[in-house]
Amino acid sequence: MIVRFWGAKGSLPSSMNSENVRGRIKSALELALAKGLSDVGEIDAFIDKKLPFGLRGTYGTNTPCVEIRDGDDVILCDAGTGLRDFGNHALKSRDGKPDHYHILMSHFHWDHMQGFPFFAPGLIPGNRITIYSCHEGAAEAFAIQHSAPFFPIDFKDLRAEVAFVRLYPGETREISGFQITPKSQVHPGISYGYRLQKGGKSVVYSTDSEHRGDKAAQDFITFFDGADFLIFDAQYTLADAWTAKMDWGHSSNLIGVELAQKAGVKHLCLFHSDPVSTDETLDKVLADTKRLALLMDEGGPLEVSVAYDGLVVELSQISGGKMEIDISKENEAVLVTVKGRMDAVTSPDFQENLEGLVANGERRIVVDCQGLEYISSAGLRSILIISKSLKNEQGELALFGLNDMVREVFEISGFSTVIPIHESRDGALGGKA
Ligand SMILES: [Zn+2]
Ligand SMILES: [Zn+2]
Repeated sequence: MIVRFWGAKGSLPSSMNSENVRGRIKSALELALAKGLSDVGEIDAFIDKKLPFGLRGTYGTNTPCVEIRDGDDVILCDAGTGLRDFGNHALKSRDGKPDHYHILMSHFHWDHMQGFPFFAPGLIPGNRITIYSCHEGAAEAFAIQHSAPFFPIDFKDLRAEVAFVRLYPGETREISGFQITPKSQVHPGISYGYRLQKGGKSVVYSTDSEHRGDKAAQDFITFFDGADFLIFDAQYTLADAWTAKMDWGHSSNLIGVELAQKAGVKHLCLFHSDPVSTDETLDKVLADTKRLALLMDEGGPLEVSVAYDGLVVELSQISGGKMEIDISKENEAVLVTVKGRMDAVTSPDFQENLEGLVANGERRIVVDCQGLEYISSAGLRSILIISKSLKNEQGELALFGLNDMVREVFEISGFSTVIPIHESRDGALGGKA
């Protein structure tokens, strides 16, 4: 199953202006000077490895539209401006062959339906579009959006066959091969979240949803229970959501982490970003939220991302819980090679192996992290325990080969100042940086 974001901004489309673009170019050039970039051949590696995502890319412009696909079965969540890009992509990839499109509507605020008039498959005979909603009056809302003086093509003049289907909170229905359950959410005029399940995988789409820290939280923990992927409205900071923007119907990253951890969600994806948030701000929101996930660690590991136009997440890649360990002797040191994920499931095995080495008198242990895809606070805890017991024996635990994400976790958790991290294998084995 894959989840693909065509639009992730809230409220209205938000694009960059010339001043923003100039600022980005300036920041990138400053970084290039600071890092000593001098060879044209190194430009791609510099962009990919040294520039933060918010500078080398962008969190995008479009308003909500998310594609959830399993083989040929596809569900679209909301019809914001991202739907236009999805429609053009679908026409191209199907080579003009007609299709049946299924769209779940959270509610009818502009940002969730303004892409529909520009959804090209709607203008082509042979296509079918079914729009699902728990609200009454869906057909009227769409007809009004297409009517004069708002739009030149009347809804009844669309060439595709469009149908409306009413759904009800708590009632599960099969749509395009997915089992889909809606839930009502606190938002001006009410919005609905959807839980989608298929083939043992589950995705929850929960946008435009205010959480007030009250008893209703338990209903959401049940709704999110064990989801592989949670798309969560995190438009504001918690302080804003509970003060100046109270009752505006949105939530925050902190509540997202708390509910996701209590529900045992595997991957939390922050969504419906505030249009005033710059790419730089959203980079910081991502880093802060990863740190919150470590600080508040109540359950298993929680992966965190911020949605952007074009983000594709393959759910089979995030099921986790697998790690391979290989141990070999290298002169005075023991080399431990780890591959996969070091989390609450796998780190006890890692810790036990390394405790065995310390008990056998090994005093210098080097961990090759080149194959380490992910580390949670449980993994950090195991590393700290081994590091401490080696220090007690005048020994040392050293690491090398951390990928960007793992390195970031070490940095934001402060572990990079506690555990020696080396750039190279030789450096780590020799004890030099
Ligand atoms: Zn919205
Ligand atoms: Zn709304």
